[in-house]
Order: sequence, then C-alpha cells, then structure tokens
Amino acid sequence: MNATGKISETRKLIDAARHEGLRVGFVPTMGALHAGHVSLIERARAENGFVVVSIFVNPTQFGANEDLSKYPRTFADDLEACMAAGADLVFHPDADEMYPPDATTTIHVAGVTEPMEGEHRPGHFDGVALVCAKLFNIVGACSAYFGEKDAQQVRVIERVVMDLDLPVEVVRCETVRDQDGLALSSRNRYLSGDERKRALSLSRALRSVESGVANGQRSASVLLDEARQLLDADAVDYFEIVDPTTLACVETVNGPVLVCGAIRIGATRLIDNITVGGRLT
Ligand code: AMP
Repeated sequence: MNATGKISETRKLIDAARHEGLRVGFVPTMGALHAGHVSLIERARAENGFVVVSIFVNPTQFGANEDLSKYPRTFADDLEACMAAGADLVFHPDADEMYPPDATTTIHVAGVTEPMEGEHRPGHFDGVALVCAKLFNIVGACSAYFGEKDAQQVRVIERVVMDLDLPVEVVRCETVRDQDGLALSSRNRYLSGDERKRALSLSRALRSVESGVANGQRSASVLLDEARQLLDADAVDYFEIVDPTTLACVETVNGPVLVCGAIRIGATRLIDNITVGGRLT
C-alpha cells in the first residue's frame, strides 16, 4: 500500500493503475476509521482492481461553531485499517495542498442541500460538494463508495456528479451499526456511557416509524409524533420523514421514504436514518 499527501503523486499512481487496465474504486473519508468505513473499503476492494482511500478532515464543511479542531484524528491506526481492508493507496493531503490560499472557487448545490442538515449546518454541503468535486478530479474516473448513514450527503453528491458530468459512479453502502443498533460514527467516541445509552434513542425512534408503517400506519404526522416521544436528547435538530429523491417532507407513506434524525447529546451531535415503506431502487 502507498500513502501520499501530494495530489501529483496520487494522480501518477492512479494513472499507472489505470494503464494496467485496473478499475478504480474510491472511498473518501475524514479518518478516525471504524467498521463502517472499513465496510466501504472492503466493498471497493471486492469490486475494483485498485482501491484509493482519502483521509482529509475537510475544513470547508465545518461551521464556525463546530468541532473541526476537536475532530478525532487517529492517522496511524487509520493507515493500518486501510491496509487490512485492502486499500492500494491512501491520499492524505493537508489543508494547504487541497486549498491553496489563492483559491476562490466555490460550489453550491440548490434543492437537496436545503432541508435537515442544510438548515442546521449552513454552508456544510457547499464544503462537501467542493471537496468531493476536487477529490473526484484528482482520482479521475472511478466508482466512489458512500455510506447511507449520511443519506442527504449521498443525494448531494449524486447531484454534483450529474450536474458536473463527472465520470464517477456513486455506490451507496448500507449503514453499519453496533449490535444494539447505534450507527457507527467517528463522533461516538465522544459519548460517555450514559450518553451512549441516550444516543440509542435515535435508532429506536427510527425503528418505531418502521414498525408503525409495518402495522399499516401511513400518516407521517402520526408516525412522527410517536417516534419523537422516544428521543432522549438535549436537543432534537430535526426528525422527519422525507422523499428519498427530493428530501422534501411527505405527509403520507406511499412507497419507500427516508426517516432522518439529528440529535444533540451533551456536546455531541449524531445523525441517523433508515429507509422504510419499501426498498429504494
Ligand atoms: P466520514 O469519515 O464521517 O466523512 O465518512 C466517510 C464515509 O463513511 C461516508 O461515505 C460515510 O457515509 C461513511 N460512513 C460513516 N459511518 C458509516 C457507517 N456507520 N456505516 C456505513 N458507512 C459509514
């Protein structure tokens, strides 16, 4: 496995792999890798001849009051996890390599960026769109693996890829959870024992919508009223049932919908979602 912080070296190594006829699989991450990230890398490994993982804590997607400086950084362990999962190349630029001081280009995606995370993290998806567009331009034609854990992010990235005609196939990967249902997240390590128990209320609330739908309830407001009562958080940023394509709230569950929530427990903000009412095609 190779590892480099340089864009030029990354391009060279990927060009060489492509010259050998290898398909490129790409897994963008912010490091602090856990089994969720590893599942993406392993899938990329299974489906491609050359696997690139990026590790970059992207400053442009953090708001002024967010946890950029405290975001967990576990680089040595991350390299080991990448190697064990079968990565061929780890691209780990620093902020100056990605954002030279004279850079002024931004990307704004309208529509799917606006509800939910967009309301609570202004500018977040501009940063996500910019860094992904840059990473895709560095890596080139590839299949890129993203977790459904960040369902709105995947929709935004699909939009960027379509709107900018990027030669990228976006592959959605299932959320990996702890046995008790808590979605794995780099931020889970901030939780105390008691906070972790309370964090479980998010996946429980999502599941209650799932069982409500399975029992024939179709009204979003009835389903949400019941589910929201289960949330044991210091703040609920949102808990909604939305159309999986537009991310607009639905009134009635007719076919597959996304149930999405974001809560704060102490200083930690957690998000999660599930698809209910059918499978996404
Ligand atoms: P991050 O490092 O948080 O930016 O995440 C990098 C990628 O890993 C994103 O595509 C995430 O959606 C994905 N990811 C994070 N947590 C999980 C999880 N529990 N299961 C599956 N994918 C995940």
